[in-house]
Amino acid sequence: MTKEQTDLKENLLMETSESMDEPLYMDQDRYIAELKATILDAASRCRNCNYCSIGCPLSDSTRGFISQSPSGLMQSVKYGIRWDMLENEDREDLRNLLYLCTTCNNCVLTCKAKATAIPILEIIQAGRNLLRELMIGPLPEQRKVLKDIYINGNPYGENPATRMDWLGDLAVKRLPQDQAEVLLFVGCTTSYDSKLFSLGRKMVQLLDALKVDFGVLSEETCCGHPARVIGDEALFQEKAAQNVDKFLKSGVKTIVTVSPHCYNTFVKEYPSIGQNIKVQHYTQFLAERIQKYPVKWRIPLPRMVTYHDPCYLGKHHRIYEEPRELLRAVEGIELVEMAQSRENSLCCGGGGGRMYTEVEDNPRLAETRVGQAIETGANLIATACPWCHTMLRNAVEDMNLQEKIEVKDIAEILFEAMGIH
Ligand code: SF4
Ligand code: SF4
Repeated sequence: MTKEQTDLKENLLMETSESMDEPLYMDQDRYIAELKATILDAASRCRNCNYCSIGCPLSDSTRGFISQSPSGLMQSVKYGIRWDMLENEDREDLRNLLYLCTTCNNCVLTCKAKATAIPILEIIQAGRNLLRELMIGPLPEQRKVLKDIYINGNPYGENPATRMDWLGDLAVKRLPQDQAEVLLFVGCTTSYDSKLFSLGRKMVQLLDALKVDFGVLSEETCCGHPARVIGDEALFQEKAAQNVDKFLKSGVKTIVTVSPHCYNTFVKEYPSIGQNIKVQHYTQFLAERIQKYPVKWRIPLPRMVTYHDPCYLGKHHRIYEEPRELLRAVEGIELVEMAQSRENSLCCGGGGGRMYTEVEDNPRLAETRVGQAIETGANLIATACPWCHTMLRNAVEDMNLQEKIEVKDIAEILFEAMGIH
């Protein structure tokens, strides 16, 4: 690394530590006391108006039990602390409740618009951090996820040596050995879920066809998002430090992510990275690129398509238009909206660490979402997130609706319409 890169890395990591009031684990008692104080303070400002339960997928899917509303979760942690529930046998009930949240961000937007702008999600996150510190959380299946991220650098327990297998025989620059302007950050799910290998490959071919100077990391590792949402801040910090190091060594100007979760992590949770390296989700990058260098659509796609907004693009970052612009650009596509879309979009149920565990009663959120898609008359659900893709595809299969509707990522749709071989 050059001296400039070394200084930058030190700055980034210093800011990372300061943001967590470091040291995290050298004074665990202080960290726990701070988490409790944060939770009690925010929960005491809640008016209990319950506006935030409007649109919360938990309130809907569990038929409105008050404890399973956003303010209910927050108050449950508050009383868990006040009534010393963290020490007795009820603690698992509290854990099971808190890990229901999909982290969709709906409640945060609603409280901000209608009430007192309580950062509900940060409080739920602090509650999970607290449970993790006290060895109460996460859920049993999620403990393995943490171990797998720690040992293998991915939440699926896959061998890191096979991480690039999805590429097959496609040639692509490997960073930092090669040099490129853009880093394509593929993410763990696209790298290891064999049903998504073709998505990764099509993304690469699409960028090639658009003449983007890009490469992938020769040793990509998890962005840390699953560790953070599950409550393991120390593991998250470790992955953040490793990734910042890799990004700086790669020398790129822009990072483009396949997953909205990686995008959110780099933009919001790796301090200052956005000031030094531009970070974009691929839908933003492609929308800009195609506007600047119009493409030739060779294959018309006469399909009725409905777009499912991933929460970590829509409700977390208000990226609603770019994915729709891309779909509208394709000749033949008729874009129709579901009853719930944009800021009112229904979560697929995969966020918040729930991809790794079954935490929900029937019907599952993804099944409700597929039902909403069917109601539009669409025969194709487009999305832009590997987790949403997986959740919705599984729901279509479980509901035996493969003849009626299919699920595709926007990158796959563009690939088809451009007639790339
Ligand atoms: S909308 Fe805000 S103030 Fe009202 S109950 Fe929910 S968290 Fe509390
Ligand atoms: S983030 Fe979403 S799932 Fe979690 S409490 Fe808020 S609205 Fe409900």
